[in-house]
Parts: sequence; structure tokens; C-alpha cells
Amino acid sequence: MAVQPLHFVLVPLLAPGHVIPMLDLARLLAGRGGARVTVVLTPVSAARNRAVLEHALRVGLAVDVAELRFPGPALGLPEGCESHDMVTDMSLFTLFYQAVWLLAGPLETYLRALPRRPDCLVADTCNPWTADVARRLDIPRFVFHSPSAFFLLAHHSLAKHGVHDDNDSVAGDLEQFEVPDFPVRVVTSKATSLGFFQFPGLEKERRDTLEAEATADGFVFNTCGAFESAYIKGYGEALDRKVWAVGPLCLLDSDAETTAARGNAAAVDAGLVASWLDGRPHRSVLYVSFGSLARLLPSQAAELAAGLESSNRPFIWVTRETDGLDAGFEERVEGRGLVIRGWAPQVTILSHPAVGGFLTHCGWNSTLESLSHGVPLLTWPHIADQFLNETLVVDVLGAGVRVGVKVPALHVFLNPEVHGKQVGRDDIMRALTELMDEGSGIRTSAKKLATVAREAMAEGRSSDRDVADMVRHVGELAQRKEKGVPELGNKEKTDGQVKTSALG
Ligand code: UDP
Repeated sequence: MAVQPLHFVLVPLLAPGHVIPMLDLARLLAGRGGARVTVVLTPVSAARNRAVLEHALRVGLAVDVAELRFPGPALGLPEGCESHDMVTDMSLFTLFYQAVWLLAGPLETYLRALPRRPDCLVADTCNPWTADVARRLDIPRFVFHSPSAFFLLAHHSLAKHGVHDDNDSVAGDLEQFEVPDFPVRVVTSKATSLGFFQFPGLEKERRDTLEAEATADGFVFNTCGAFESAYIKGYGEALDRKVWAVGPLCLLDSDAETTAARGNAAAVDAGLVASWLDGRPHRSVLYVSFGSLARLLPSQAAELAAGLESSNRPFIWVTRETDGLDAGFEERVEGRGLVIRGWAPQVTILSHPAVGGFLTHCGWNSTLESLSHGVPLLTWPHIADQFLNETLVVDVLGAGVRVGVKVPALHVFLNPEVHGKQVGRDDIMRALTELMDEGSGIRTSAKKLATVAREAMAEGRSSDRDVADMVRHVGELAQRKEKGVPELGNKEKTDGQVKTSALG
């Protein structure tokens, strides 16, 4: 009888920065891992990513999509508002996450109706509601971490020491302290280390996330040992679980078509952007983007515009309609600056030799995409893991320059009069000079990181070995189940050993 391939069901959070790497993971598991993979999405995310999914099918990968109906409208969300980036009114965040939590029912129904139970559920950290579903159906559950291991280990240590317990100030205070029990000296504050679900009203989601992390059967990281070995290992030890570092996942694609379609096939024409870049000198262009969620206040956008205008350097700026640029800006920078409204083909841009720097919010995907292509960063963190990612990039990896943000977006939102212009045009000019003119050491570090990232993803190297080990582990669990051998407790699973695999 032919052996059935293992079946993985992947459940990303409905946000571009979470769906994109999960689809990469799906293709990796189906390709090198030889598994069958189903990705659970709702119609909007499925449509946005159709081109990448169709390409996967064309090249023979066993990746399919389970499309669930999003329960948002039943709670009062507008029809079609099914991805975090579409929730522009912050008062709707709580409703959006309540609707996401309601996906537990449809997911369970879908899984129960399958002819055979899947062998493993891989769910985003921010989808803790999958824990009960997996437990009821007796399916092993791995958590897929989309942030850096550096952030996760720091966050874990701070939570363990009770730093995040004291809720006297909603946004967290800015008093600086050192992260305890950490492999390197890192100074942070409560406000810049709180992580996900820190908006008022999301306390339950925050608690559920920590609980589901504690009961996971293993952890999958989008990173590689060469970037974060000590933190991956530390995290595995701290949570006493197996961890696999299988990234940087953005290096999976090498063809221009799939690269351009990442995250949203309706992106601005990648060919046009590439030919605009073709006409610029090597490493001269600054790419500016704050990811799919962060937004600048108009006062802050105006300072950035002024800084870019007076810098006299070529740039691409991905901006939102709401960012409030003055009417003449685009005309004044015509020929030198390309303003993209909407979705940009980011990896196409970062992999172009004309790009010499990335002014970024330090979302972990953007950080990885930049470093994997040897592009150093100008760091402008906003929320969640981004301040600690900045510390990793600037202080530990030596591949970036800070623009000088001190206050996270929640403080800005709560107090725009005070924090509405925390980065001035002069800060931007100073950081640009430091990176583009004087930053040869930083550039060298970024190039080295790109080389080691590619090596990690190559056949037989650390990330590839971790994918193989993860699939092998799931195969073993499936065999045990088939033979009726009882599940082992976490301690027994590992004989007390550190369960990190194939690091570095
Ligand atoms: N992205 C893109 N084009 C855009 C904006 C974002 O391709 O115009 C992609 C980007 O390449 C990355 C993801 O969306 O893969 C954003 O993830 P990240 O973790 O950097 O930030 P988030 O959007 O989650 O804050």
C-alpha cells in the first residue's frame, strides 16, 4: 500500500505580514518536506495570494487552500474587512480579533469533515484559539512565530520576571531597564517590549496567546541560526520544547513572477518599478516603507517628505492615502522620487542592485527581506516586536542606523500633540548620511548576513536540516499514533535535552 504523505494544516493570522511567510512555509513543506499542505484562509487573503498559490500548483507542489467564511459581519464589521491591514479604524480592532477567534468553529468543522485527520497543525502565535481545536481533535500543534527569536526570548524573560504584569499605564511606561537572563546586554522599556495585543480591549487575546504558547508541541521560527542562534536556543530551553529555524523564508522564491506577486498580486506593476530602478546608480536608492499596518500622522509624514526632498537622493516611498503629503511633493521630486500608493512589490525592490538602504518600521519580514538581500536598514520602529528588532539589527548585527524613534505608536496615538513629530527632517538627513555615505562597515555586515542567510537555506544546511527534522518529527508522532503508542509528556519527549535542532 502506498504511504500517504504527511498532511500539515497551516493557520496564519489574517494579516499580510503573517500570511506571506506562512505561504512560504507551506511551499517549503510541500517542496523540500514532501508533505501535503492546506493553508486556512478567508476569501480576501485567498484572492490576494492566488497568483502565488497557482504558481505553487503549476510547479507541482501539493498546496491547497481551505477557504473559511470570515464571521466579521455578524459582529458588525463591514463586509470584506477580513485582514488586519483593512481595519484602519482602531476602534474596530477588538471586533476584528473577536471575529478571528470565532474561526475556531468553522476550522473544527472543516477538520472533522476531512477523510483523514491531518498530522500536524501549524498555527500563528496570534491564533491561540487553534489550541482547543487541536486538543479536541488530538492533532499535534506547532506555533509558527513570525517575529524574531531575539524579541521572543526577551519578551518571554520579561513576562517571566513580571515586568509586563503591572497594568497601571495602558501604553506602558518608558523607563529603561536591562532584559534579565539574556545572552547579550539589551536595554528596553515596558512600552517598547510589550509585544502583540497591547491595544486596550485585547487583554483576553494577549492572555490566550501566552497560554497557547505554553501548551504548544513545538515552535517554528522564520529565521536562521546564523542570525539568531543564541536566542533560538535560549527560547527552546526556556519553553522546554523543540524549535526549528527554517528561514529566512523570503529566500524561497527565485523567479521574478512569484517574487512580484508576494502578498498581493494586485501590486503596482513590478516591471515598471524595476525599470525605474534600472536607471539609477548602484546602491543609490533609499526604499521607504512601513509595512502593511503602520501609518504616519500627517505631521510626521510631512517631516519625512521634507527630509527626503532636501536629501537630493533617489528614493521609492510606499505611502498610504491617509499619510497626508502636500499636493506639490510628487511634482517637486519627479524624476528622483517614486511615490507608490498601495501595495509595492517589496522583494522585487529590495533585490534590485540600485537599492542601497531601507527606511523601515522593522517588521520582522521586512527586516529579513532586507538583510537577506544585503540591504542595510534605517530603523523607525512603531509597535509590537519592532523596537527589539531594531536593537538586534543595529546593536547586535551591526547592519543598521537608528533614525531616533523613542516612543511607540500607541503613545503617539494617545498623545499626538506631544509625540506627533518625533522624527524631524534633520534626523532623517543625519541618518541617511550615516548610512548611505559613511556606512561602509554597516553595508559590509549586511552583505555578510545576506551570504550566510543564503547558505542557511541551501540544501543540507541549517534551515534545510530543520525543515527535514520537523517533518521527520511529525512523521514519528503520526506513526506512534497509528500504533496506538501514547503521547509522551514534554519532558519525556526530549529526555531533558535541549531540543533545538540544526542551529547555525
Ligand atoms: N509588503 C509588500 N508590499 C507593501 C507592503 C508590505 O510586499 O507595500 C510585504 C513585505 O514585503 C512583508 C510584509 O508585507 O513581507 C510585511 O510584513 P512585516 O513583518 O515587515 O510588517 P507588518 O506589515 O506585519 O507590520
